Amino acid sequence: MKKSSSVSGFYKLNPKERLAFVKEFAGLSDEECLLLQNTGSLPLDLADHMIENVVGAFPLPLGMGVNFLINQQDYLIPMAIEEPSVVAAASNAAKMVRKGGGFHTSSTPPIMIGQIQAVGMKDADAAKLRVLKAKGEILKKANEQDPVLASVGGGAIDLDARVIHTSLGAMLITELHVDCRDAMGANAVNTMAEAVAPLIERITGGRVYLRIISNLATERLARAWCTVPKDAVGGEDVVHGIVSASAFAAADPYRAATHNKGALNGIIAVVLATGNDHRAIEAGAHAYAALKGHYTSLSVWEKNGNGDLLGSIELPMAVGLIGGAVRTHPIANIAIKILGVKTANEFAEVLAAVGLAQNLGALRALVQEGIQRGHMSLHARNIAVAAGATEELIDLVAETMVKERKIRVDRARELIKELGSTRR
Ligand code: NAD
Repeated sequence: MKKSSSVSGFYKLNPKERLAFVKEFAGLSDEECLLLQNTGSLPLDLADHMIENVVGAFPLPLGMGVNFLINQQDYLIPMAIEEPSVVAAASNAAKMVRKGGGFHTSSTPPIMIGQIQAVGMKDADAAKLRVLKAKGEILKKANEQDPVLASVGGGAIDLDARVIHTSLGAMLITELHVDCRDAMGANAVNTMAEAVAPLIERITGGRVYLRIISNLATERLARAWCTVPKDAVGGEDVVHGIVSASAFAAADPYRAATHNKGALNGIIAVVLATGNDHRAIEAGAHAYAALKGHYTSLSVWEKNGNGDLLGSIELPMAVGLIGGAVRTHPIANIAIKILGVKTANEFAEVLAAVGLAQNLGALRALVQEGIQRGHMSLHARNIAVAAGATEELIDLVAETMVKERKIRVDRARELIKELGSTRR
């Protein structure tokens, strides 16, 4: 019989009942169902309240980035990620940066932009002037929505309006600037944008459609910079190679995408570990990288007069210590405690430093031995597990594959047979 994924009222079932449906649909074994429902430190009931249609949880490894000295303060960096090498590379790069005095950082206030799209006005430019004139009234309406945010010193602080010319004609985009303090702010800003929409319709005479935060958080930037002594990074040639890699990424979007992905490897791992919205960070980072009209790198590496390496990074960083899943996810709470950050701004700056470290780690490996040696050594363990190795055989098989430089599932299977039989 053909199976159907169309289920009415699936969301009304409890996780066990939903899993029974999935078991039947996908032919899962009892063991597989048990694994799905063994949600560890995220209780199934809590997971069920976080998103919809929950049947289980998906654990990721949590590693610690070490050696981070940021603004003369030591930080341990919790990183949740499935990719080998990332935590090791970040820790190694942070060690080199430490030799040059560590990372230095800065950030702008935590201001997010909420957009309200109005269409169908007779004269969009005249409507824009009316919106700007009504700024006080619009901001007051926005701030009435979130007295808690106002009580901690945040709230809608400014307003802008832009006429954009689209394939469907002129539109007026009103932008609320909201200081989100220690929240990421999407819920707060979206609530405000929806609340002021009727006012915008009345003022403009147009029709409002979208009322939503922008993830291109150009008003909420985090920066980090560092000096790495040439000897710490591997000598003059490595410095030259990294500077040349930086110029490559600045000029070529194909390289820039991977260059930025390298920095985001570290940033996203921390964002995930703390229960923050990593899609918002990735969207913001890539949009920011393309803001000048062509996609380019988020970081720059140069050589100073001494021959040492100077690196800097700047990107939007919409993260919070409050709201969303940050306070509800038990591991996210612990991760924030380990980080020890006291404000969303401090957190954003730490993330910029992690991104710069990760970028340095990747570039250094790329200009030297290439990333495959280190990467594949760690990856060999994953391959061994995928081939069916268990317990001590995982390391034995992985080490042998690395020595042979044959890190492949077929070789892992052969080795499991060979080494497994010699151990029996
Ligand atoms: P939230 O609404 O859960 O928490 C923020 C609220 O906490 C504030 O509005 C304020 O009332 C209160 N608060 C208490 N103390 C505060 C302090 N010190 N600083 C700031 N606020 C304080 O969460 P949020 O941050 O508004 O929204 C984040 C969530 O929105 C995330 O889960 C994200 O995934 C989701 N989201 C994202 C998008 C997007 O496009 N990026 C869109 C919709 C929703």
